[in-house]
Amino acid sequence: MKTLAKLKAEKGIWMDEQPIPEIGHNDVLIKIKKTAICGTDIHIYNWDEWAQKTIPVGMTVGHEYAGEIVEIGKEVKGLKIGDRVSGEGHIVCGHCRNCRAGRDHLCPNTVGVGVNRMGAFAEYLAIPAANVYPLPDDISDDLAAIFDPLGNAVHTALSFDMVGEDVLITGAGPIGIMAASIARHAGARHVVITDVNDYRLALAREMGAANRVVDVSKEALEDVMKELGMKEGFDVGLEMSGNGVAFNQMLANMENGGKVALLGIPGKDTVIDWNNVIFKGLFIKGIYGREMFETWYKMTSMIQSGLNMEPIITHRYHVDNYAEAFEVMASGKSGKVVLDWS
Ligand code: NAD
Ligand code: ZN
Repeated sequence: MKTLAKLKAEKGIWMDEQPIPEIGHNDVLIKIKKTAICGTDIHIYNWDEWAQKTIPVGMTVGHEYAGEIVEIGKEVKGLKIGDRVSGEGHIVCGHCRNCRAGRDHLCPNTVGVGVNRMGAFAEYLAIPAANVYPLPDDISDDLAAIFDPLGNAVHTALSFDMVGEDVLITGAGPIGIMAASIARHAGARHVVITDVNDYRLALAREMGAANRVVDVSKEALEDVMKELGMKEGFDVGLEMSGNGVAFNQMLANMENGGKVALLGIPGKDTVIDWNNVIFKGLFIKGIYGREMFETWYKMTSMIQSGLNMEPIITHRYHVDNYAEAFEVMASGKSGKVVLDWS
């Protein structure tokens, strides 16, 4: 079968030929129809420090996908051949304290599809049945292929009560824009999203993702708050840029007692002004992945109740044109990029 793999220890990704994976008693085999490119895949593509440390050369990458079950392990219950599915890319151990308490997303033994084991950029993916998420008929394959990052946005945005709150989102990457739309859908009052990238700011604006889209290289957040009639500060902050300047700007503009969720991954030497955290009595929560499977349930039901995520997919390519797809995603001039494996 065709796969996209990290075949050389240098910038790039290559088409590879691999045997169709065999499945165990508790696994299913999925025929992949659509995949999406994640920021993580771009780190692997660019072969940055994290990728060099983490990804073995030869690894088939990718973890955002939708497909159809074509084979089923003999112990698997509740799934059948022909089911349309997506799946959770974090494979957990099932026996640690957190797993047994139902907090699977905090499992210390988590293994990542397309990072630590064979990925979804392939014609077929073998995965534990427990990771499979069956799709309702009204969710398209394209949309299901971005459920993993949409789940990051949902997990982060629904960490705190949104109803009637003023929400700041730093970073209008695909996940930031999705989180802004979710905040509005969930009933926030003012949703403000920031970035410094014109393409992304325009996309957020076109999608109506926020009440106010702010280019922080040109406008002061303080002025925007005045314009919106906000006197004290943001009630909820969702950090989705991984940029230390953005994180500090968020902390400086939070209300006392405000709540902050961090999804963006800052550089190791990021310095923050702890005085803002302490004297404002802020709550800070780190977010990793998605809650299994409450996040998946919530994202499905929010889409079914009118959350429109289709416009975040800005580019579609056949997998044979993967080189162009990766270039577009790496350029920052895209929302989500979807690959067709048919
Ligand atoms: P992305 O890199 O596409 O988006 C980040 C955006 O932040 C970019 O548009 C960039 O222009 C913007 N930005 C840069 N400097 C800024 C500043 N000073 N102010 C405001 N915005 C600024 O990333 P994404 O795919 O949307 O993901 C968002 C973040 O979440 C990334 O840091 C990613 O690594 C991280 N992530 C974390 C998890 C997790 O489980 N914790 C999962 C997926 C992604
Ligand atoms: Zn575990």
